[in-house]
Amino acid sequence: MYSAKTVTMLAMPNTSQQPVSQSTQWFERATKVTPGGVNSPVRAFGSVGGQARVIARGEASRLWDVDGNEYVDLVSSYGPMIHGNAHPAIVEAVQKAAVDGLSFGAPTEAETLLAERIVERTAVEQVRLVNSGTEATMSAVRLARGYTGRAKVLKFDGCYHGHVDALLASAGSGVATFALPDSPGVTGASAADTIVVPYNDLDAVREAFAAHPGEIACIIAEAAAGNMGTVAPVEGFNAALKDIAHADGALLILDEVMTGFRTSHKGWFGVDNVAGDLVTFGKVVSGGLPAAAFGGRADVMAYLAPAGPVYQAGTLSGNPVAMASGLKSLELANEELYPRLAANADRLTGLISAALDKEGVAHNIQRASSMFSIRFAEGQGNNFDDMKAADTWRFAPFFHELLQGGVYVPPSAFETWFVSDALTDNDFEVIEKALAPAAQAAAAAVRPQ
Ligand SMILES: *Cc1c(COP(=O)(O)O)cnc(C)c1O
Repeated sequence: MYSAKTVTMLAMPNTSQQPVSQSTQWFERATKVTPGGVNSPVRAFGSVGGQARVIARGEASRLWDVDGNEYVDLVSSYGPMIHGNAHPAIVEAVQKAAVDGLSFGAPTEAETLLAERIVERTAVEQVRLVNSGTEATMSAVRLARGYTGRAKVLKFDGCYHGHVDALLASAGSGVATFALPDSPGVTGASAADTIVVPYNDLDAVREAFAAHPGEIACIIAEAAAGNMGTVAPVEGFNAALKDIAHADGALLILDEVMTGFRTSHKGWFGVDNVAGDLVTFGKVVSGGLPAAAFGGRADVMAYLAPAGPVYQAGTLSGNPVAMASGLKSLELANEELYPRLAANADRLTGLISAALDKEGVAHNIQRASSMFSIRFAEGQGNNFDDMKAADTWRFAPFFHELLQGGVYVPPSAFETWFVSDALTDNDFEVIEKALAPAAQAAAAAVRPQ
C-alpha cells in the first residue's frame, strides 16, 4: 500500500517551483478522511507549525519518512520503543504469536505471564490488562470510586492521564475549587467531581481535603510528570500524597503509563519506593502494540468484575499478539538496560546544554531518570505554571532546525523526549551537528507580541 508505485500515482499537480513532498501529499489525503490528518493531535505539528512527516519505516534508532528522509528517533513513539524500532527479537515474538491466532476472547497463557512480570517488578498485587493508557486510568478511577463509595477525584494541573472525561479538566479560579472542562464535550457534571491543584504543592492538596472531607475517592498523579514537559516530583511528594489520601480514607493512584519500566527496572516505584494503591501502566509495557494495564492492592482489585461489583471489560484486552510484544519488551528491559538509558540521556542532555550555552540561551534540563525536556528559562520548573512561564516560543525554531538536521524530537515544548537503547555514537554525531544551528535558531527567536 505504501509502495513507491502507489505514492507516485498520488502525485498532485504542482504549480509552484517547489516539489511537493510525499509527506505533504499523504497528509493532504489524510486530512480529507481524518480530522486534522492525524489520529492523535500532537502528531499534526500544531504547536511548531510546518509539515508533519509521514513515517514509512523504523529500524533501531532511525526513522524514514515517505520521502526517504532519515531521522534519529528521539520520540520513540512517545515512550514505548525503549529498545529502538522494530527490534528483531520483539518482531520475531510478534510474528510467532500472530501465526497462532490474533484474538480468542478467552483466557490465554501470555496474559498471565505478562501480569506476573508486572507483579514481580512493582508493588502491585493484581493486574487487569486493557488496551490503552486512557482505559487504564479511566478504569482505575472507576475502581477507586467503587471501592470508596465516593465521587470526587483530585488531580494536578498539567498532569495528563489520557482523554478520560473526568480527567480532562483544568483548574478553575481559586485553589481547591471545582474544575472546568478542558474540552468541549466534557460536561460540567463530569468536571464538577474533579478537583485540580498545582503539581508539587502539598498545601493545596491538604486544603482540598479540608474543603471536601470524606468526599474524595482518590488522588491521581503521574508518578513523575512528563506531559507538561518533564517535572519530577519534589522529594517526598508521592509519599506525602499517600499519607494525606489515607488519612481521609481516599486512595492514591500513581499513573506510571509513561514512567513504568522506563525510569527504572521497577518504574518510578524503583526511584521513590512509593506504592500506589492503584497503579497504571502503558507505553513500555506493550513494546509498541496497543496494550496497557492497571493494578494494585489485592483488596481493592477484588472489587473488579467478575470478582467484584465494579464493571470493566474489553473484547481485545490481553490480546495475544500485544502480550507477546510486551513480554519480549519487558524481558529485554532487564536491570542492565537502565544504566545504559541513563548514560544516553546524560550524553544527549550534555550536548543540548553545551549547544545552548554556546549561544547564550537560558535553559534548564528538566530530568526524571532518563526522561527529560528542555525548559527555556533559568532554574527548575516544578509545576505547569513554571513550565508555561518559560520562553516556550524558542522551541519551534529549535525543533525545525533539528528536524532539518535529521533529528526527530517531540513537536512541542511540553512533551518529554525519549531516549532508546538503540542510540549509537553515529547518532550522537548527527545530533551534535544538528544542535549547533538549532541552538542558533533558539537564540535568534523573537518573543511573540
Ligand atoms: C500517554 C499517557 C496516558 C495515556 O495513554 P494512551 O495509551 O495514550 O491512552 C496516560 N497517562 C500518562 C502519564 C501518559 O503519559
